[in-house]
Amino acid sequence: MAELRKDYILDQYVIIAQERAKRPSQFSRSPPTPSSDKDCPLCPHNEHMIPGVLEQVGDGRGGWLMRAIPNKFAAVGQEGSAALSTHDPLFVHGLALGEHEVIIDTPHHDMEFEDLSVEHIERLLQFYAHRARVVESKPHVRYTALFKNRGEEAGASISHSHAQIIGLSVFPPAVARLFDRAYDYALRNESCPFCDVIRREKHSKRLIFINKTFVCIAPFASRFPFEAWILPLRHVPAMDKLRKEEFSDFAHMLRKVLRRLGTLGVPPYNLVFYNDERQGMFHFHVQVLPRLAKWAGFEHEVSVPINPVPPESASSFYREG
Ligand SMILES: [Zn+2]
Ligand SMILES: [Zn+2]
Ligand SMILES: [Zn+2]
Repeated sequence: MAELRKDYILDQYVIIAQERAKRPSQFSRSPPTPSSDKDCPLCPHNEHMIPGVLEQVGDGRGGWLMRAIPNKFAAVGQEGSAALSTHDPLFVHGLALGEHEVIIDTPHHDMEFEDLSVEHIERLLQFYAHRARVVESKPHVRYTALFKNRGEEAGASISHSHAQIIGLSVFPPAVARLFDRAYDYALRNESCPFCDVIRREKHSKRLIFINKTFVCIAPFASRFPFEAWILPLRHVPAMDKLRKEEFSDFAHMLRKVLRRLGTLGVPPYNLVFYNDERQGMFHFHVQVLPRLAKWAGFEHEVSVPINPVPPESASSFYREG
């Protein structure tokens, strides 16, 4: 029988369809054909195609290792009032204000994120944390989203490895709900829900990897096949509060998880970083969301995903490769 599971803290349900369970190999696909770098705006030889450079880390030889640039097709603008017009309750609207930048992970066009060296990924995660902090400090920004889309099905329009940061002038309700739930739990239980999740899952079948300062689990109510969460063992609210050795452990773990996932034929995925830069109470973590299952009418109508890969199988896939 399929099992209905609820998220650790959110009122969010999933159906773990054991009967429809598939073996990891059934998700295997042929890797995407490499794209041409001729018209790639993120490549060093096409610098004329980008609107400018916000900040970069040099390679010591006149080139760069990673850089932040403004998004040419920004989803949000920087000028105007953040006020919403609410005089007509059915048609509330306003300017989509904020910041939108792209972080180019590497000058090499064909390098997948997980093929970069651990040292490079560590440096990159520090750069992400720094840029997220810079965006967060802008006066019109209330929340900073940091994410990575890999593959067309995951929404990436450019194959050259990159991440994006969007600073929003409104605090997104979905994130507010998540933070509120975590806070409520903490008040009732006198401990952070994610610290408790780590304490419990560390000894469960859903443990994927653990090192000195980080842990990776397949969450109990996984919405996506092979969903994985990477959390610091220490209660840290935002990525820029991580210590040097934590960044290193984080880089090792993220790379290991993505490389294992990559054995399915470089599947599309989203990485979402939950950073609490403001209240400083949340437990920072990254969610790896592989996009191997299509969401259909049911998922869109009721927001209850059907996941054919029980997290207990996903974790053994990651552990055993
Ligand atoms: Zn800087
Ligand atoms: Zn490129
Ligand atoms: Zn915690």
